Amino acid sequence: MDIKENYHAIKNQLPAGVQLVAVSKTHPAQNVQEVYDLGQKVFGENKVQELMEKYPLLPKDIQWHLIGHLQTNKVKYIAPFIDTIQSVDSEKLLSEISKEAGKNNRTIKVLLQVKIAAEETKFGFEIAEAKSLFQQYIDGKFTNVEITGLMGMATFTDDKEQVREEFLILKRLFDELNQLKTLETLSMGMSDDFPAAIECGANSVRVGSAIFGRRDYSK
Ligand SMILES: *Cc1c(COP(=O)(O)O)cnc(C)c1O
Repeated sequence: MDIKENYHAIKNQLPAGVQLVAVSKTHPAQNVQEVYDLGQKVFGENKVQELMEKYPLLPKDIQWHLIGHLQTNKVKYIAPFIDTIQSVDSEKLLSEISKEAGKNNRTIKVLLQVKIAAEETKFGFEIAEAKSLFQQYIDGKFTNVEITGLMGMATFTDDKEQVREEFLILKRLFDELNQLKTLETLSMGMSDDFPAAIECGANSVRVGSAIFGRRDYSK
């Protein structure tokens, strides 16, 4: 299968209204361009340095999403152009994004990353922390960010029922916060589990290897 066939196969599996974030990490700019030329505008990267290398080589109407852990001291590099930061996992990071967005006279969209996996994961809010930060946001604490939704990753397991239960935890939180202030994006699901994520309410999926092929970290 080549990238073009992969891309169309994925697109055909997505119901109307489900956004595809094409995750291009570790893949060269020319592969991103190939998928862009098929009509894809939204791409995800997980490292600032890699994004900064690709950004100048690619069309300016790409909406870049950062999906990996972000250190506060690196926010300034991406603040001028990043569309959405999906991996907001601390109040300190949210404050820094708001500050740097302000310096650039813009508002940056963010998703709160929430821990839903049973396995030990380093990054993401507990449910209660996410609720409390969202309330502070509603109260006007962060001026130059727009919290547009939530992002989560299920446990890496073959146990489909467990994965579904984890996705549904995030869906319930999404519905609860959505009562307080309207949210747009529930980002869950990757190459291996996006159909289940969509069944559980995801309206944005982050798909990498099923489009670009397996990642080769040895290069
Ligand atoms: C790499 C990555 C993905 C895509 O993973 P695939 O299994 O290649 O589809 C999705 N979300 C996050 C946060 C990632 O780091």
